[in-house]
Amino acid sequence: MRPIRPGDRGPAVTEIRTVLTGLELLPSGGHGDEFDVATERAVRAFQQSRGLSVDGRVGTETWQALDAARWRLGARTLYHAVPKPLIGEDVRSLQERLLEMGYDVGRADAIYGIRTTRAVAQFQREMGLKPDGACGPHTMSALRRLGRKVVGGRPQWLRESDAIRQAGPTLVGRTVVIDPGHGGTDPGEVVPDGPLRWTEADLVHDLASRLEGRLAAAGVRVQLTRGPAPLTCLPDADRAQLANSLGADVFISLHTDGHANPAANGVATYHYGTDNGVTSATGERLAGLVQREIVARTGLRDCRTHAKTWDLLRLTRMPAVRVEVGYLTSPEDRARLVDPRFRDRVVEAIVAAVQRMYFPIERDVPTGSIDVSELRAVVAAGTVVD
Ligand SMILES: [Zn+2]
Repeated sequence: MRPIRPGDRGPAVTEIRTVLTGLELLPSGGHGDEFDVATERAVRAFQQSRGLSVDGRVGTETWQALDAARWRLGARTLYHAVPKPLIGEDVRSLQERLLEMGYDVGRADAIYGIRTTRAVAQFQREMGLKPDGACGPHTMSALRRLGRKVVGGRPQWLRESDAIRQAGPTLVGRTVVIDPGHGGTDPGEVVPDGPLRWTEADLVHDLASRLEGRLAAAGVRVQLTRGPAPLTCLPDADRAQLANSLGADVFISLHTDGHANPAANGVATYHYGTDNGVTSATGERLAGLVQREIVARTGLRDCRTHAKTWDLLRLTRMPAVRVEVGYLTSPEDRARLVDPRFRDRVVEAIVAAVQRMYFPIERDVPTGSIDVSELRAVVAAGTVVD
């Protein structure tokens, strides 16, 4: 859909304003249908609080988040609806609450799916309630009675870390899904014409192919989310779904950044997390490793790691990161990115980061120290091939 933006009027704006008022981001009493300055400010605050890109406009992702935000936990009965599951902030609150108490709901993704249903049923059983997997008034009051005293770590992410630790340090047999961003009708960032002309879609596909080759040489099963010239652009939610259906161990999305100011440059890496400190520990660790390896091996400016709740990171059920490797709008970054040797260094950095994620933390190695060509030798020697 076309984003609803400042200056727009109409019933959709009224609806947006109503939700924002309910969230106390807009003063109550105002009943305009105009996307005014106050509305834009409220939209930005909302986007920031949800870890969305802050642009002050209401596009598809912001619209869905606003729609989900109407619901407060306890305002409706939650149940496993098929085929269209219930989605909302109330579901997320319930999931976070269950996670805190050690129930396995997967990730707090605001979707009342089968895992949430099972976790609720388990909770009900342990509380002596009828285990129907639906969260109605009885289950709500049981949750309220427990109050906030039952709080643990973030069991889901501890489980994720455990799974990785138990898997051992070898990369052989793992499945990595590489997601070159954009494609099809969406070229992503486009640099001006001339000898350095590249679209982001083409460039990240080249990076993905190189990465595929390197990882495959180390014994990894690799799957790309798209080919070099797809007809359409796959939405991020579908890319996440693809990784889930393949049972991927790691998900890496590749992008380049862009900015109106040509002086903006550098590399940044994103993982799942909210401003409230909810974070995927393994996603955060992988993001940190990718970021540090790329900075060390390429000299790109360090724009750090950041927590986001983007569909791509939220819906994937494995450690997932999105790397924005350099600004195509920066003459400096662009000149480096068009050099295939530079792209190889970026790829080596990512391979080293994936390898390090499987090292126990206490036996991790210094950044920049893994010789990626040696990973190939291990496979060739047949020592760990299954
Ligand atoms: Zn992009």
